Amino acid sequence: MHTTFSDGRSVPDDYIAPASAAGLCEIGFSEHVSLFKDKQDGCMSPQIVQSYLEYIENLKKKVSGIIVRTGLEVDFISGKEREIKDFLEGVKLDYRIGSVHYLGEKTVDMSPEFYEGKNIDKLYELYFEHVMDAAVSGLFDIIGHCDLIRIYGFKPETDQEPLYRKLARCLKKNNVAFELNTNGRNRPLADFYPDRKFLHIFREENVPVCVNSDAHMPARVGQYFNEAYELLRYIGFTEMAIFEGRVRKMVPF
Ligand SMILES: [Zn+2]
Repeated sequence: MHTTFSDGRSVPDDYIAPASAAGLCEIGFSEHVSLFKDKQDGCMSPQIVQSYLEYIENLKKKVSGIIVRTGLEVDFISGKEREIKDFLEGVKLDYRIGSVHYLGEKTVDMSPEFYEGKNIDKLYELYFEHVMDAAVSGLFDIIGHCDLIRIYGFKPETDQEPLYRKLARCLKKNNVAFELNTNGRNRPLADFYPDRKFLHIFREENVPVCVNSDAHMPARVGQYFNEAYELLRYIGFTEMAIFEGRVRKMVPF
């Protein structure tokens, strides 16, 4: 969930009732955070993180009937592993999501103009390289929207299967889960991340999956989950990852 602590529309409290109504057993908050001043659009500043943690701790005490988890979605920048590690060391979380939004100075999900005049095959390759750097860093439990580069529908010319295979093997080797992110349905892409065409690769390589709605407003909590479970079952997944105190547990769905 993203709330008014970063780029979401409502305060965390407002997400609880919809989560219960959607039949969820757990809800996790994972505000965007970036350590780098020029990359803090839509992010919670690192100075706010302690008050965010306290807020969610208080919320946990107030809420019954559903388990509340505390996470962060950290902007991953290749080459900045040391700074991110130092920052995360003092932050007590149930899970850490590492996400690549920036390639250079621009985010890949802000505007289609980013893609104009660029070699899309090269962009895919570059994006996946950064995602694999995030996995190799050992800093994260989950990789967020691992092929966000699909967002505006710019298609590479070459077959992407080898790239997805390489990514899946990298995630497995570094013990990082990927997410089936249902929010892609609300974006220009109008489909989940990652590409359903390549989901079987994650199954074949035995990469743990989380099912996440990446909701930025209460109405989208748990959105499209039935469809996501159905798709995952069809591919051959039978369980998904949940986290407590950064320990992963697999539960059947
Ligand atoms: Zn994200």
